[in-house]
Amino acid sequence: MIRVTVWNEYYHEKTEEKVAKVYPNGIHNAIADFLRCDDISVRTATLDDPECGLTQAVLDETDVLIWWGHLRHNDVPDEVVERVKAEIHKGMGLICLHSAHHSKILRLILGTTCNLSWREDGDLERIWTINPAHPIAQGIGRYFELPEVETYAEPFGIPNPDEVVFMGWYEGGELFRSGVTFHRENGRIFYFQPGHETFPIFYDANVQTIIRNAVRWAAPVFRSPELTCPQVTKVHNK
Ligand code: ZN
Repeated sequence: MIRVTVWNEYYHEKTEEKVAKVYPNGIHNAIADFLRCDDISVRTATLDDPECGLTQAVLDETDVLIWWGHLRHNDVPDEVVERVKAEIHKGMGLICLHSAHHSKILRLILGTTCNLSWREDGDLERIWTINPAHPIAQGIGRYFELPEVETYAEPFGIPNPDEVVFMGWYEGGELFRSGVTFHRENGRIFYFQPGHETFPIFYDANVQTIIRNAVRWAAPVFRSPELTCPQVTKVHNK
């Protein structure tokens, strides 16, 4: 069983009617609803929960953390972000969605600005599978389309990814590395661009398949009990 925690800022849904119409129970519950299955268990956590819902006890029981945030990245306390970073280094998986490109955790763990260019006018996006052998791309065709998205455009201020799985093309002409992977110590990280709050992106079957695949890919193969720097005894005596 893979244990997933879906973290959501959960702010737009409570403050903007047009977002509440798309996600009446919050983006976190929309994601949790399609992820729950025989081999994936899901809990949710939000910004307003004590310690953002990300206590050490919760992280100890989390194999993969999914993150959605937008306007209130800076309201996540640094001590919570450091706690999440330590768990990724031990082996917990992280999936950052859409505007989580600017989350404290992604910028900290990647070490770059994660800046990008954007335009919000409901462009069609064609998402190309450019690494069809990747586990996250299984079940996805050569490409699929989302009729309305927020355009995210290159240059994208990330380190060179380990793998580019998906590439986005927009009818406005822009390109974007829409699905990229990284490793940080034992942990696996996937960033995926679609997911703007006013569009029903998380109800799309291809998007759901990709996030489900990403959960299985990011689940820890090995998780270190603690991060230490021990002095070791010799393997061979002279
Ligand atoms: Zn957005």
